[in-house]
Amino acid sequence: MGLNMSMPKDIISRALSEGRNFLLEPEAKLLCAYYGIPVTKFKIARNLDEAKRFASEIGYPVVLKIVSPDVLHKTDVGAVIVNIKNEEELVRAYNTIMENVKKHKPNARIIGMIVQEFVPQSLEVIVGVSKDPQFGHAIMFGLGGIFVEVLKDVTFRILPITDKEAREMLREVKGYPLLKGYRGREPLDEDAIVDIMIKVSKMIEENPMISQLDLNPIIVYTKGAKVVDARIILET
Ligand code: ADP
Ligand code: MG
Repeated sequence: MGLNMSMPKDIISRALSEGRNFLLEPEAKLLCAYYGIPVTKFKIARNLDEAKRFASEIGYPVVLKIVSPDVLHKTDVGAVIVNIKNEEELVRAYNTIMENVKKHKPNARIIGMIVQEFVPQSLEVIVGVSKDPQFGHAIMFGLGGIFVEVLKDVTFRILPITDKEAREMLREVKGYPLLKGYRGREPLDEDAIVDIMIKVSKMIEENPMISQLDLNPIIVYTKGAKVVDARIILET
């Protein structure tokens, strides 16, 4: 898996040639980065020594997650550990994730471990795309990150979308006051989310073989927003 700015078509065709109909988190993030979508800094470690080196290059605190074609929902198998503050914690986290994956998915193929910057907590939102056989690609915006299924506070538009439509979508969700700021809380960066949505729209226009995309969560700040997890499913 090259870490250079591979072309979207190369990333996608490599996945397909390996018999996968989905992109791994690092591949999906490379694709996002290609379109100018802000993602967490990351590197793929093949072993513990590389993980140590990459963590000190990126700078603590870091996050470790498994990279495996057999683990799509990483938290479910205990394969995400956040806020790792030093090398001692890193070694422990690395071993814990390996044990957890072996326990839950004994036959999982392990490509490595993604080491990424740990970004501060703030409001988590989701931007998703799904393809309807009748209407084509639709984009979703919602609040909630991991709580999205519980909150069900989402809204949809058919792609492509304009800046104005993206902005309307933010205002449509019930939780909009959380973005706009309430009770003395500072407003969060709506423009940063709109920008991500427009870039997603362009990505889908140029790569219509993407049948599903999940940027979940995107963490939104008073200035800027960052994608901390990305998943892409391809049409086969
Ligand atoms: P999953 O495959 O289970 O969806 P995620 O990569 O979304 O795994 O990680 C689970 C949760 O951990 C995220 O919803 C987010 O709250 C937190 N998280 C993941 N990566 C980071 C990061 N780089 N910085 C801060 N928090 C993170
Ligand atoms: Mg996620």
